Amino acid sequence: MSNTQPLVEVRDVTKIYRAGDVDVLALQSVSLAIQPSEFVAIMGASGSGKSTLMNILGCLDRPTSGRYFLEGREVSTLSPGELADVRNRSLGFVFQSFNLLPRTSGLENVELPLLYAGVSGRERRRRAEEALRQVGLADRMHHYSNQLSGGQQQRVAIARALAARPRLILADEPTGNLDSRTSLEIMALFQDLGRMGMTIILVTHEADIAEHASRVVVMKDGRILSDHEQTPRVARPAASVMEGASP
Ligand code: ADP
Ligand code: MG
Repeated sequence: MSNTQPLVEVRDVTKIYRAGDVDVLALQSVSLAIQPSEFVAIMGASGSGKSTLMNILGCLDRPTSGRYFLEGREVSTLSPGELADVRNRSLGFVFQSFNLLPRTSGLENVELPLLYAGVSGRERRRRAEEALRQVGLADRMHHYSNQLSGGQQQRVAIARALAARPRLILADEPTGNLDSRTSLEIMALFQDLGRMGMTIILVTHEADIAEHASRVVVMKDGRILSDHEQTPRVARPAASVMEGASP
């Protein structure tokens, strides 16, 4: 592993959920360092702690104990408001359900978070168009999101994450609602973004999805069972997925 400063580093992180009288130990002494531009898949059975770890990495929740450093800054002790700031500034989220507004164009869906972030109108449009071109949707950005296929909707959601210019993309089961051919297109897109230097952490329970990452972390019962680098399987030649992109 290289000796540059990790983009993400969790040290000895534990998460305990208190549900009534019962304590659920969702993460036990998890330590993990991720370098800039790594593409990491987190795998594991249901209940193994993947989403809990993603929630902590995504600054949506804090560990019960242990430390989390994002870009060298300790974020495990920040207040909810400060965490929201870090989230908006540094992180892009992609979910299994695309969470787009219906009867609203792809372009507007991508612009909306920029509006909330206070980006001016012209700059908003410029960034949203650029992000939609990046995901190969240049020719469909004015279609209503509900007129797009599932794969196209997920690409709008990825463009929405990219438009905020995050340091890190966190994707929780992004292909969970897609057929296998469309899933491959989405993995090809993540691989394109990885080549461009984006850091990606993706949760999946499917081994044939994880094959496309450059590193696989397997979780079991709240612990890291294994963590290895691999030669990623190429999802598809980069050019062929960029429908609507210039040759
Ligand atoms: P995965 O995403 O791998 O399916 P989770 O991180 O969702 O796993 O869950 C890990 C463990 O923590 C499970 O035992 C789950 O039931 C428990 N858990 C998750 N969220 C909560 C919560 N909000 N309250 C209580 N227990 C929870
Ligand atoms: Mg989960």
